[in-house]
Amino acid sequence: MQAYLPEELANGISRGDLVALSKSITLIESAKKDYRAIGESILSLCKTQNRDAVRIGVTGVPGVGKSTFIETFGLHLIEKGHKVAVLAIDPSSKKSGGSILGDKTRMHSLSVHPMAFIRPSAAGITLGGVAARTKEIILLCEAAGYDRIIIETVGVGQSETAVKEMCDVFLLLMLSGAGDDLQGIKRGIMEMSDILVITKADGDNITKAKLAAAQYKQALHLMPAHEADWVVPVLTCSATEGIGINQVSNHLDSFIRNAKIKGWFIENRKQQNKTCLDQAILNYLSLQVSAKTMNSDYLKQVEEGELLPHEFIKQFLL
Ligand code: GDP
Repeated sequence: MQAYLPEELANGISRGDLVALSKSITLIESAKKDYRAIGESILSLCKTQNRDAVRIGVTGVPGVGKSTFIETFGLHLIEKGHKVAVLAIDPSSKKSGGSILGDKTRMHSLSVHPMAFIRPSAAGITLGGVAARTKEIILLCEAAGYDRIIIETVGVGQSETAVKEMCDVFLLLMLSGAGDDLQGIKRGIMEMSDILVITKADGDNITKAKLAAAQYKQALHLMPAHEADWVVPVLTCSATEGIGINQVSNHLDSFIRNAKIKGWFIENRKQQNKTCLDQAILNYLSLQVSAKTMNSDYLKQVEEGELLPHEFIKQFLL
């Protein structure tokens, strides 16, 4: 890896070279300090953002149809002239051995399409780490010319909050037939969604899907108003039949248009960049402090309650 110069890889990325992009992502994700430093240099060289790129978060419980939806939706976006990158965040992969990591093989047509790039997240990094790396990978993909970045996450944990903090628009996929118990999806996830999509609206399931959509519309009335002055639509679609995909795409475009007109799009990105800085500072401080205190008795004293956190901070940070 060290044989690669950051300039060489950054130039490759700006030409849309997939090998350069993949190698740079591997460097960014590396646990090795030296590799990571090369990755950071590449990032600095690729910094100019593509202002037209849209970052799309997609979440939903396992089995709701995320991979199938992303495959069909991704191909639809390509047909509309976009270049699509799909990134997956899976904080559970450490335990499960990588449930999302199989997606590359599940999104058959998209994974081999020359206008698409699919990359699962590296397993074994903490959620904060995965989120930070993913944000950096988004920037690299945008530098490589991808203008629709889909970030997939499993809707069962904290990962949606992390993904929400790096997206311009957030899609929640839901199953029909369980409209009143919210399918284990926390209310909070519904509240942070910009578009709700009931999946698998085909065959015998169409009526159930429509009913579920009506129920979710009701449920949304009880939630706080959307911060971008937007009425969250509840749509139905069938990714296998290709029904309703166009509608999802149109609503997504309307959301982005509205968010740009209202100034929310830029404000949201600014806020996200600030959150990233806060996170980076916290990570940096935490690394510094743990390096200093790794072998000290102070930690033990904190554990025993003999030393209070503010006393510990005075000792090490002030
Ligand atoms: P994920 O775990 O959320 O990524 O879900 P998958 O995309 O792997 O889909 C789970 C199952 O639902 C698979 O057996 C799919 O074939 C099926 N499925 C996904 N989308 C649809 C759809 O639009 N209609 C129907 N009938 N089945 C679907």
